[in-house]
Amino acid sequence: GARPRRHEYGDAADVLRRVFGYDSFRGQQQEIIDHVVAGGDALVLMPTGGGKSLCYQIPALVRKGTGVVISPLIALMQDQVDALRAQGVRAGFLNSTQDFEERRLVEAEFLAGELDLLYLAPERLKVPATAQLLDRAEVSLFAIDEAHCVAQWGHDFRPDYLALSALHERWPDVPRIALTATATPATHQEIAQRLKLEQARHFVASFDRPNIQYRIVPKAEPRRQLLKLLRTEHAGESGIVYCLSRSSVEKIATFLTENGIQALPYHAGLDARTRAANQARFLREDGLVMVATIAFGMGIDKPDVRFVAHLDLPKSVEGYYQETGRAGRDGMPSTAWLAYGLQDVVQQRKLIDTSEGDDAHRRRLAAHLDAMLALCETVECRRVRLLAYFGQQAEPCGNCDTCLDPPETWDGTVAAQKLLSTVWRLKRERNQSFGAGHVIDILLGRQTPKIAQNRHESLKTFGIGTELSEGEWRGVVRQLLAQGLLAVEGDYGTLALIEASQEVLRQRRQVPMRREPAKPAAVLLPGKAPDKGGR
Ligand code: ADP
Ligand code: ZN
Repeated sequence: GARPRRHEYGDAADVLRRVFGYDSFRGQQQEIIDHVVAGGDALVLMPTGGGKSLCYQIPALVRKGTGVVISPLIALMQDQVDALRAQGVRAGFLNSTQDFEERRLVEAEFLAGELDLLYLAPERLKVPATAQLLDRAEVSLFAIDEAHCVAQWGHDFRPDYLALSALHERWPDVPRIALTATATPATHQEIAQRLKLEQARHFVASFDRPNIQYRIVPKAEPRRQLLKLLRTEHAGESGIVYCLSRSSVEKIATFLTENGIQALPYHAGLDARTRAANQARFLREDGLVMVATIAFGMGIDKPDVRFVAHLDLPKSVEGYYQETGRAGRDGMPSTAWLAYGLQDVVQQRKLIDTSEGDDAHRRRLAAHLDAMLALCETVECRRVRLLAYFGQQAEPCGNCDTCLDPPETWDGTVAAQKLLSTVWRLKRERNQSFGAGHVIDILLGRQTPKIAQNRHESLKTFGIGTELSEGEWRGVVRQLLAQGLLAVEGDYGTLALIEASQEVLRQRRQVPMRREPAKPAAVLLPGKAPDKGGR
């Protein structure tokens, strides 16, 4: 296409109005922009939708030279650059999707001083030719987007990002601005340290998203639960449903479609064209539901996503926050809904046990999962817990499930002891271990073939747990796992005691538990019209 004309850029406020068409800055944008325009380094922590892009785009336009943006979102670079060009900003990108000729053209523009912004994939920086290229023209600033990718403690570490620590040494006079939407205090420190940004000014926005209603429910019949949510609260609205695996994405998308809800699948196993087409439809059309793995969503800017539903447990609080953050970017009321069950915990532990990498890596993954489970099982305000995880304080919000409908708690100590001592006896008396299902069968005194075969009816704890239902026992197991009082091991997710379990068995520790809600209310069956009279 035609080369965009050079703007007559003025100061920051001028660029905001004339190039981007906005009247005023949001939040800390102005302070951040002024600081970087003046040549200062900055570390910006701002939630998704907060307006991070302008924080480097405007300084890049105001300062002399080209602003170099390092971003891992290769798939989005073309779109970002197209959007900027449509606004008259001279932008280009360099990444592995281009052929030699395309790259050469962008490089020529850069060398001629004809680019305001140059987007670079992090892997480009390892190539010596890239550094040599950057040396041959004027760089106005370095922007490091998704800066949490440099932190090993974070949930999204990318080894290529480590090379970014060299920016400061090679170009000490070029200001750097690192930006991220997710950072616990630990990640935040690690970013500052690895990028040598200790001297940078830190801009930390509130991570609260007051218009998002957080709800976490026990998983009973996930499809029916999801269908009920969509039909009763979000009929005809856009939303995202996250699933862990490609196959469940396909199944849920089909299930929703069969039940009259327009849904599209998105996962890395689909070919690039289908993915791009589904994404484009989701962005353009109203009332579509995207059923996706977490491969979907990074950098997606759709303001009216009314709900984000998780059918599987996210691996970390950061991931959960980032994914739910895609709801309600327009500030209107939105729902973040998560259904999780015992099987999720077992499955995630198994994934961690079998994951590649060293012990330290597995310990980090386990700590992330524990924090996620603690959020699920809390009896406090979800928002208070969520913000506390990011080092921020808040008051109970009145807009989450625990605030709106405070969970009843009960003293689960005796139940916990019954369950733990069953696991202990199996190990000590029989040298056996079993998954939750069989242990619960023992507690309920069921006569299953497996019980008969193992002669488990002769265990002292056989049949001592009939005061609770099977569902309630599963809740007990789940909460013990979440509270770090029980572990699951091995390929079959067998239950095992840990040190903390002994404290419960020896009466040294009380175990408060959330009361499980009664079975979820029935949902409207497929094909039936909404029935106002109730039944
Ligand atoms: P982030 O990168 O923090 O997720 P973006 O930079 O994509 O957020 O901005 C989110 C949305 O808010 C975009 O649609 C952007 O155009 C808009 N936006 C950003 N700053 C302003 C502003 N000062 N006034 C109005 N809209 C803004
Ligand atoms: Zn709350």
